[in-house]
Amino acid sequence: MIKFCSLYSGSSGNSLFISDGRTKMLIDSGISGKRIIEALVAIGENPSELSAILVTHEHSDHIKGVGILSRKFDIPIYANENTWNAMEQAIGPVNIKNKMCFCNCEEFKIGNICIKAFPIPHDAVDPVGFNFFLGSKKITTATDIGHITKELISHLMGSDLLFIESNHDVEMLKVGPYPWPLKKRILGERGHLSNEMAGKVVAHLAKKGTKKFLLGHLSRENNFPELAYRTVCNVLDENDICAGRDVMLSVALRDQVGEVVEV
Ligand SMILES: [Zn+2]
Ligand SMILES: [Zn+2]
Repeated sequence: MIKFCSLYSGSSGNSLFISDGRTKMLIDSGISGKRIIEALVAIGENPSELSAILVTHEHSDHIKGVGILSRKFDIPIYANENTWNAMEQAIGPVNIKNKMCFCNCEEFKIGNICIKAFPIPHDAVDPVGFNFFLGSKKITTATDIGHITKELISHLMGSDLLFIESNHDVEMLKVGPYPWPLKKRILGERGHLSNEMAGKVVAHLAKKGTKKFLLGHLSRENNFPELAYRTVCNVLDENDICAGRDVMLSVALRDQVGEVVEV
């Protein structure tokens, strides 16, 4: 059984927790080390038992606490080579034995959990999402996605639990306070995924058998949890899928520890 929990999710900082009871890992640590420790304690986990911090990409909302936690608790950091080069200065000195490198699309193992990083379209040097495999279970995390591609869908397919970005409402973003270049970046091919597009992905995968969905990386200025949930529900409704009955759907909050989901 795998336990999954969103500690923080959104433009202000991201960190997800995944564990099979023995191997405990973080996906990103984009908020202060202190706040991540607080969140881990809140779900009954001991930060000194972490086996790894996996890094998706070098943006500060994903790496802010990575170096601090690694130094404090002697935790290995896993990232691909390009991301290492891009983030190394920002995270500060790391013990050489804790500097671990993976290659995209090649499986590697931490404890009993198999992990595969896959590329995502986003404006970082080499951003990735992750598949986690344990026995017959597959869990996938994919945020910071500019647009959906066939290749990306193939990596999400067959997941028992999918954590997917539902970043913004397009209308809110368009009329909102962001300067135009930033709006263009978010809406662009290498920006972030809208609620509507997240809905389409969720509906597509629900039809293919995925039962549990968590929406994450919500924007503070251009979204709110009820709107993300409602928009995705509406797309599901159009496909005769009912959230709560046919599939589990919930929203990971920006600054609040989420529920622990088991698969
Ligand atoms: Zn990013
Ligand atoms: Zn991000």
